[in-house]
Amino acid sequence: MRVAIIGGGVPAAVHAWTAVLRGHTVTQLDDGAPIAGSGALRAGSVAAADLERAAHALWLWREIGGRVPGVGFRLSGSITVARTRAELAVAEAAAADTAREFTLLEPERARALEPALRGPLLAGLHCGADAVLTPHQTVPALRAHLAGTGRFTARGCSARALAVAAEGVLIRADDGSALAADVALLCPSPGRDALAREFTGAEPVPLLRAQRLRTGPLERRPDAILADGDQFRHRPGYPREPVARLSAEQAQTAAAAEFGMHVLAVPRLDGGLTLGATGEGEPFPAELAEPAAEHLLAVTGELLEAELTVRGRWAEVACAIERAPWLAPSGRILVLGSAGPDATLFAPAVAELAADRLGL
Ligand SMILES: Cc1cc2nc3c(=O)[nH]c(=O)nc-3n(C[C@H](O)[C@H](O)[C@H](O)COP(=O)(O)OP(=O)(O)OC[C@H]3O[C@@H](n4cnc5c(N)ncnc54)[C@H](O)[C@@H]3O)c2cc1C
Repeated sequence: MRVAIIGGGVPAAVHAWTAVLRGHTVTQLDDGAPIAGSGALRAGSVAAADLERAAHALWLWREIGGRVPGVGFRLSGSITVARTRAELAVAEAAAADTAREFTLLEPERARALEPALRGPLLAGLHCGADAVLTPHQTVPALRAHLAGTGRFTARGCSARALAVAAEGVLIRADDGSALAADVALLCPSPGRDALAREFTGAEPVPLLRAQRLRTGPLERRPDAILADGDQFRHRPGYPREPVARLSAEQAQTAAAAEFGMHVLAVPRLDGGLTLGATGEGEPFPAELAEPAAEHLLAVTGELLEAELTVRGRWAEVACAIERAPWLAPSGRILVLGSAGPDATLFAPAVAELAADRLGL
């Protein structure tokens, strides 16, 4: 079949991968540079109902990483650092959950596993199910691999209109070109789903904004993803009661509270880190908040006892909630309008589902 994919982020590239793998010919329309995310695949801290899907998605990422080393997939694990009694209580309760790959590490064991961890800590909660991608390399590496099959083409243009006919779909682009395909997948950026909404009639999904920093190379770069104890408040995979006690008993810093932050440090291949994550709600001010950036640098600096330099700074927008793929009654158009903050993690599992639903 001829498959058209509209959108160019990591999820869209994975949809292209899945369709080509199943023997189809893909043309992708993309009008910009994807943001690509932090590259953290946090499969171990998803909601209980998503654990199986996350494990499957991670297994698929592993397979993709094995075939396309350029995506930079690595089963890095993660360590969430507990620095207070209330954070330690969450870590202890989490480690008792046998459904998850959590291990509670005494400070010495945490430092033995991750020598870059130099700052004071009461314990580290290791998660063996977490992994990293090198996000800015993922899309180009997948595209280059797919181009080598002779069944993949990427066009740099914007899809403006989509019409369904008996024999397929016709897409009109802003450069005046048209593309005829048998089926189409719409993977628009969060907040740019007007074309998709024309079909689904769905209300727009609320958005979240994350601020990211890229540091320069470190003398001792961590191998694992590192997070501070505020991660317990923001990811759905930790036990509720101790998290509620943590929220009630321990105030966050002013910046962390104002910008919905936890600190996440994701190792990059160049020896630096990608730092996040804020979770600001709409409306987003034009400027990226300085106190949020300062908090990210200060906490990471404390965890590593290192001076950090900033080499890049940007914002990412994600849909606040995940919405299931919508299949048009014709069976020819699938809209992936809202994949949520774990869009990158779940992408290969969602791509399988999408391909099944389109009969690919
Ligand atoms: C709070 C928060 C937490 C996050 N946590 C993580 C995390 O743990 N791990 C992680 O890896 N990431 C994380 N992210 C990042 C997030 O998963 C993705 O960056 C974000 O969802 C963007 O996804 P995307 O690839 O769909 O969109 P984009 O990166 O914006 O890519 C879409 C592409 O499609 C193109 N496009 C859109 N419409 C059209 C059209 N009509 N025609 C042609 N091209 C079009 C755009 O130009 C763009 O190039 C987080 C983000 C936030 C805000």
